[in-house]
Parts: sequence; C-alpha cells; structure tokens
Amino acid sequence: MKPTTTANTIDKSNSTHFLVTILFLFAVSAVSYSLLTTHHSLTQYYFIYPLCMLAAYFISNTWLKRALSFVTFVLLLIGSYFEPLNIDFLQQTFILVPLCYIAIFPGSLWPIGVAFSLIGVYIPHVTSAQVFEFLDAAIEIAAIAIFATGGVFYRQKLIKQVERYRKDSLTDFLTQVANRKAFKNDLESIETIAGEASTMKFALLLLDIDNFKLINDSLGHQQGDYLLIQFAKRLNNLSFNRINIYRLSGDEFAVLLQDKFDVNFYAQQVANYISEACHTEFELDKRSYTMTISLGIAALDDAAYNTEIWCRNVDIALKRAKQSGKNSIQWFDENLIGETIRSYQIERELSDTIEKGQLTLHYQPKVDIKTNKVYGAEALIRWKHPVFGIISPDEFVGVAERSQQIIPIGRWVIETACQQAKIWDQLGHPICIAVNVSTVQFLYDDIFHVVTKALRDSQLDPQLLQLEITETTLMQQPERVVDACHELRTLGIRVAIDDFGVAYSSLNYLKQLPIDVLKIDKSFIDECCSNHNDHMLVRTIIQLGHNMGKVVTAEGVVNNEQLWLLAQEECDEYQGYLFSQPLPPNEFITLLSSRKEIMIPHPYMASSR
Ligand code: C2E
Ligand code: CA
Ligand code: CA
Repeated sequence: MKPTTTANTIDKSNSTHFLVTILFLFAVSAVSYSLLTTHHSLTQYYFIYPLCMLAAYFISNTWLKRALSFVTFVLLLIGSYFEPLNIDFLQQTFILVPLCYIAIFPGSLWPIGVAFSLIGVYIPHVTSAQVFEFLDAAIEIAAIAIFATGGVFYRQKLIKQVERYRKDSLTDFLTQVANRKAFKNDLESIETIAGEASTMKFALLLLDIDNFKLINDSLGHQQGDYLLIQFAKRLNNLSFNRINIYRLSGDEFAVLLQDKFDVNFYAQQVANYISEACHTEFELDKRSYTMTISLGIAALDDAAYNTEIWCRNVDIALKRAKQSGKNSIQWFDENLIGETIRSYQIERELSDTIEKGQLTLHYQPKVDIKTNKVYGAEALIRWKHPVFGIISPDEFVGVAERSQQIIPIGRWVIETACQQAKIWDQLGHPICIAVNVSTVQFLYDDIFHVVTKALRDSQLDPQLLQLEITETTLMQQPERVVDACHELRTLGIRVAIDDFGVAYSSLNYLKQLPIDVLKIDKSFIDECCSNHNDHMLVRTIIQLGHNMGKVVTAEGVVNNEQLWLLAQEECDEYQGYLFSQPLPPNEFITLLSSRKEIMIPHPYMASSR
C-alpha cells in the first residue's frame, strides 16, 4: 500500500510535467519546421531530428536518452557547419534548441553546451558585415540557455530538498519507518476514500512491546533503542502486500492494511505472523533477547468509517490485550466500549478524588513466619467511586503516574498511613505500616520533606513507617535513589525493595542500596511449589537477602504449601490471602483484637525500640 500522503505532490508534479511536454512538443516542431523548410541539401537528414528528440524525451533509459540527444546535437552541428542558416533564423528559431534539451535533461549542462557549440560552428561563416548582428544573436542564445539552465537547476535542487524535508518529517528518526504525522495524514486520506460504496476494506493493528519499560531499565536505553530498530526492521520485512508500518510513540507501532476481499482474515494472519516473529531472538549488543507483544485490531467498517472512532476502538482493543496478561491479540468488539467509557471517566475524575474524600487505604497484614504473628501492614490504596464502587490501584495508579497526579495522591497516602499507624500505636498496636512510593514520586517529589512533615504532623515513631520502592525506581536513577534512601533512613524509617526479582536488579546497586527489606515478587511465589526453577529463585533471593543482612518478605502467599516451603527456606515474613486480604482500618483492628495474643513487636523492631 503506497503512503497516500504523496498523492498531492504527485498531482502537482503531473500537471507540471504535462505543461513541459506541451512546450517541448511545440519547440521541437518549430525547430524541425525551420530545419526542414529552410535547408535545401540536408533536408532528408533533418527528418531524424524530431524523431530522435521525441524518442529521447519519452524514453526513460538514461543511456539511450543520451545517445539519441547526442545524435540530434551532432546533426545540428554538422548541418549548421555545412549549410548555416541566416543569422535572423539563428535568433528566431535556434533560441529554442537549448531549451529543448532542458526538457530532456532538466538541471544538466546540456543546454549550455549545445548553445555554445552552435555559436561556435557559426563563427567561421560570419562576414564582417554580420559581426554585430551575430554577436547580438549569440549573446541572446547564450544568455537564455544559461539563465534557463540555472533556473531549472535551482528549481530541481529546491524540489529535491523539499522532498527530503517532507520525507524526514514523515519518518521516525530512530527506526526509519513512517511516523505519527504520516499515520495521521494517511488516516485522513483513507477517510476520504473509504465508505460503504468502496470496494477496499481497511483494518488497523496497534502493537505494543510487553514490559518495554523493564527492558529499558534493565538493559539500558541504548539497548532499548536497538531492540526497537530491530523490531521495526522485522515489521518492514513482512512479506505482506498492502500494509503500511508506523511508529506512533516509544514502543507503540501501528500497521494499516487494506484488502478487497476479507480484511479481517488478512489482519488476523498479519497479527499472528507479527506475534510469532517476536519469538525469534533479537540479537542485542551483548546478549540475545526474546520478547512478546500485545496487539489490538479494529476494522474500519466497525467504526462507521470514522477514523477517530477507529483509532479509539483499536486503542481499547490493545488495552484489553495488555490487561489480559499481555502476549495476546485482541479484536475490538462492542462489549469493550463500556470499559472504555469507564477508563475515560477514571482519567477525567482522578484529579479531585482527594478533595471529594473518595480515596481510602486498606491494610494487608504482614506476618512473621516463625511466630505467625502480625507485626506490620502494607497500606494499599482504593478509590471509592460513587458509580463504579471500589476501583483497584491497578486501574488508576498508572494513569495517575502518567499525569503526575500520583504526587499529591502519594503525599496523601503517606500522611494518612502515618496518622493511622499513630492511632493504632496509641491503642496498643504498634503496627509498622508500609507505604508504596511510586517511581514518579521518588524521582520528582521531595520525598524526604514529605516524610519528615508527615512524621512531624502525626507524631509517629519513625520505626512504625516503612517505604516500599520498586526495582524499577532503583534502575531509573540508581545514584539518586541510593542517596535518597540514605537520607530517609536517617529519619529512622525503614526502606523495602518491592517486587524483587522482576526487573533484573543490578547486584552492584543492590550492594550499595541502604535498604532493610527485600520483598519477593508474587510471581515467584505463585508456582514455587510446582516449579523447580521458581523454588530455586525463591531460595536464592532469601539467601542473598540474608547474606546482605536484610529481612526477606514473601508476598502473595495463598496456601499452606507455599508457607511451608517459605518456612523451610527460612524466609522471615509473608503477606497474602492465606492470612488475610487487605482490609479497611476498622476490620484490620478487629482482626488484630481477635488475635490479640499474637500481637507482639517484631524482632527487628523490638531490638531497636
Ligand atoms: P504491590 O505493591 O505489589 O501490592 C501487592 C498487591 O498484591 C496488592 O494488590 C495486594 O492486594 C495483592 N495481594 C496481596 N496478597 C495477595 C494474594 O495472596 N493473592 C493475590 N492475588 N493478590 C495479593 P493491590 O492492592 O491491587 O495493589 C496493586 C498494586 O498497586 C500494588 O502492588 C502497588 O504497586 C500499587 N499500589 C497500591 N497502593 C498504592 C499506593 O498507595 N501508592 C502507589 N504508588 N502504588 C500503590
Ligand atoms: Ca508493595
Ligand atoms: Ca509487590
């Protein structure tokens, strides 16, 4: 499928070409007429002139063009030498001769060469009485040839430059595939040609590399870029017709395709092919890498031939593909619309959740594995929406991070958690509350100041506060995070590294990182009893944590087998549905009170209090 953006330019250049052809035909006819009617002895040879000129103009082979033009040029020179025309003919008709060559070789020096050669062969025939008349004619021919050649040369150069700028502005500089602007232009063109009456049907594929952020964080941006380049190359090498590839942003690509018969079948085929193509390893600098992608597909027919709705539909389909565990292909269908309305509403209403008092914290108990006693809790945010009910953080934290609204929300979480911990402490339950801190907040907010203020306002013992940062935060700007953790610990609070193991933490940074707790990600716990590799990873993380003097917490423990395995591996603490789901504060305190006998301070807290 040809990028439709070139259509306008092609239209313009077609009309210019038509005009040039008319002028060329006129000039060749005029010159031929003069040659044939004014010569006497060479007339039969001059029939060759218009034939060769026309052939040279219309033939596309460069060498043949040159050969035919050369024949006409030599013919003119020989004819002019043996049977020169009157000087006034020179001025009237021959002035067109160099211009004909401009049409054949635009921007070349041919016209100037021809003009000067013609003047040259006439010189021996000029009598002293004709000198001034000849000079006049020669200057006129030479000047017109030079100016016309110069003009055409600069016009050609300008057209080439404009074409290059236009191409650059529509090309993604990193991957060299078409960019978002080209995509928009092509959508506009499609909207004008598509419709129920059109025989051509269109489908749009939106693809997003799974966990690309992790790839960037763990392998570095350079390797991330390299992966994108290779991925774009693979897309470009797809052996399918009538498809256009675009890079829309970071790791998001679009594939536009058209088909006369069954565009849905064709789109599914292309999607399967792309998905499989990712499973072959990508060779990066020092290692090879396989990745997965999520893919959304939407047909233009289902969007009432409105490209805006079409894009929104494919976006919804991609979001659903991501939510359903990634590495999947999702077609748009009407049922997904309800979900989109919800996600738009969430995005719109997020800004005033705090003022409206719609945010709340639930607390999930953390349990000591040896004693089965609760000593802490993780604060997990919930949004009590008047229409949708409780919305989980998975649905809105990402949105809040993108719009940086996570900064005021995160401050509210820290303040609320501190106040809650203080209340429980005063009630005789010294529960250490762990708060999740988003990467955005850690890097763009003054987290030290926020925590200091929250501790001061609540009068909370700093040991009852723990911050959880993810490996991803650490990998973003390791030095800055290390410094910030040092500073935070001077306040007496604890720092935990969350979701440990998913982002390939650099052991080097881990060594320097002033943290107290390693939290093993739930994904390792899920199958640690049935999958030997996961078991070994859990064992390694626990041993690594202990060797570095850290407390190790396992999250997402749902059954006794997992707990037993963790106990065998000497993991320190766990949290998970096995003990309790995250609870609202009143239910949490009920749980604590009902198990009052297990409420003793955790060993590492007791030692330092
Ligand atoms: P996380 O920090 O890894 O939190 C643990 C998540 O696992 C929580 O989900 C928790 O409810 C869930 N979970 C705990 N035990 C189990 C279990 O046994 N089985 C299953 N299936 N799930 C379990 P939740 O509350 O939906 O939070 C999801 C994520 O949202 C959190 O992951 C955290 O990254 C983020 N989050 C939650 N609250 C906050 C917050 O206040 N601030 C920020 N920045 N992020 C938050
Ligand atoms: Ca957490
Ligand atoms: Ca976690």
